[in-house]
Amino acid sequence: MTGPALAEAARLLAAATRPVVFTGAGMSAESGVPTFRDARTGLWERYDPRELATPAAFRADPALVWGWYEGRRHGVRRAVPNPGHRAVAAIQARLPETVVITQNVDDLHERAGATAPVRLHGSLFAPRCSACDHPATPPDDGP
Ligand SMILES: [Zn+2]
Repeated sequence: MTGPALAEAARLLAAATRPVVFTGAGMSAESGVPTFRDARTGLWERYDPRELATPAAFRADPALVWGWYEGRRHGVRRAVPNPGHRAVAAIQARLPETVVITQNVDDLHERAGATAPVRLHGSLFAPRCSACDHPATPPDDGP
């Protein structure tokens, strides 16, 4: 976004009292988190993420799907929030009624200082039992 569109966005934001910020994969891609379609690297290049990220795939091969999620968690733990994440947190700090809605499953908004993002697709860091929905703690992959 540049020129008049950016100026208009700034004008609207300056006048806002309850903005809603909606983010997706592009936000975290700037921090090096691969987008869902680009997540086919290394071990996973022969799998389709759309087929791995389903309850049916987990039932068919839990170790495969859990391993794929572990790899994604590991990558996100190494990523750091970027200026976009920090800008969202700054908006929320200035306007506490800001609602942050994200399609992202990483924790970069929180690590930048945003509070309580609404997660449309859940969190890599909040796995639940597939049988009873009980929350679980993902393994820590160390320092
Ligand atoms: Zn259970």
